Amino acid sequence: MSENTQKDSAREQGFGTRAVHAGQHLDEVFGAVVPPVHLSSTYAPVKIGQLRRGYDYGRGTNPTRDALQEQLAALEAGVDEHGAPQATALTFASGLAAETALIMGAAEPGTTIVMGNDVYGGSYRLITKVLAKWGVKHAVVDMGDAATVAAAVDAAKAEGPVLVWLETPSNPMMKVSDIGAIADVAHAAGALLVVDNTFATPYLQTPLALGADVVVHSTTKYIGGHSDVIGGALVIPDAELAERVKFQQFAAGAVNGPWDAYLTTRGLKTLGVRMDRHAANAQAVAEWLEGRPGVERVLYPGLADHPGHELAARQMRGFGGMVSVQFTGGAAAAKQVAESTRLFQLAESLGGIESLMNYPAEMTHASVAGTELAVPDNLVRLSVGIEDAADLIDDLDRAISAL
Ligand SMILES: *Cc1c(COP(=O)(O)O)cnc(C)c1O
Repeated sequence: MSENTQKDSAREQGFGTRAVHAGQHLDEVFGAVVPPVHLSSTYAPVKIGQLRRGYDYGRGTNPTRDALQEQLAALEAGVDEHGAPQATALTFASGLAAETALIMGAAEPGTTIVMGNDVYGGSYRLITKVLAKWGVKHAVVDMGDAATVAAAVDAAKAEGPVLVWLETPSNPMMKVSDIGAIADVAHAAGALLVVDNTFATPYLQTPLALGADVVVHSTTKYIGGHSDVIGGALVIPDAELAERVKFQQFAAGAVNGPWDAYLTTRGLKTLGVRMDRHAANAQAVAEWLEGRPGVERVLYPGLADHPGHELAARQMRGFGGMVSVQFTGGAAAAKQVAESTRLFQLAESLGGIESLMNYPAEMTHASVAGTELAVPDNLVRLSVGIEDAADLIDDLDRAISAL
């Protein structure tokens, strides 16, 4: 074996290769290249106490879910020299089911969750309205400033255990926060750092490599990628923590079904190709929007004047497909644009191949109206799809020129 070949075999496989192959084991019965979808809820043992392949009941384990979990773990955490993922991924029926399992499994009553002042509204609602009843407390801070986070973490620590919850880039303000710096703050206080990586995806950002302890996903968004399946995931490198949360997944049972796992696996295989196009289109749209009459501010980390541009260039491999826009004409202008585009469909959610537009103040973020997480009422959020950029810009031009 030449030295070059040895070097090649030691090099970790690239993202695209892992996306296509990780977890996709050849079907030994028929040789099917695409692993079959295993719908069976239960598995016959060889005899009592002797399972055939470790499977007994679908809430606990299912081969199609395992394929997705292995594939996602390989993308967030990388693989060792035998191709085995360096973390455990656990998938769930939704992003919020994943978050519930993580907090119930990893935290205890009395824990304070220190979270950003622009976390996903549903995460805020879960923590403040549901888990609060079980003794989970919360503190809301500006994650853009590590010193502020450190002060909040120290204050919370005096009251009990702490969990730090970070989303970057954030939704819908597109604020970029320093994952490494906040990991240091969390670890100095003996706390875990959880990063919601839904917006960036492992193609553009790998928080575990920057010091995070857990990655959370709504796989409903870019990972599924086609707006046709709801799901969530956790990726956890620490084996003991993963075991605790896996017990929660099994015992509380909010798992995704085999068909949903299959659709998500299928979407995940093309993540890199889609994200390149999402990001190129979003950059074109953001540059076109900037300075347009009627546009007050464009929030996209790929713009050189975005406050998080340099940090994003350092900790991400691209700036993603989400763009927020504020209009000088206030709420009326924002709503008029949101209701008059043709290609950009007015809808909640994001991350699918088709472009979507959302008016957060009354749609995705209605649940945080009047709280410290409220969003400006002159803002619309664009999930820029993979259509042709020129057509998307024509669509926006028509809607904005009519203001
Ligand atoms: C959608 C979303 C969630 C919640 O996921 P569901 O699949 O809707 O339960 C969590 N975090 C972010 C950033 C999201 O966009």
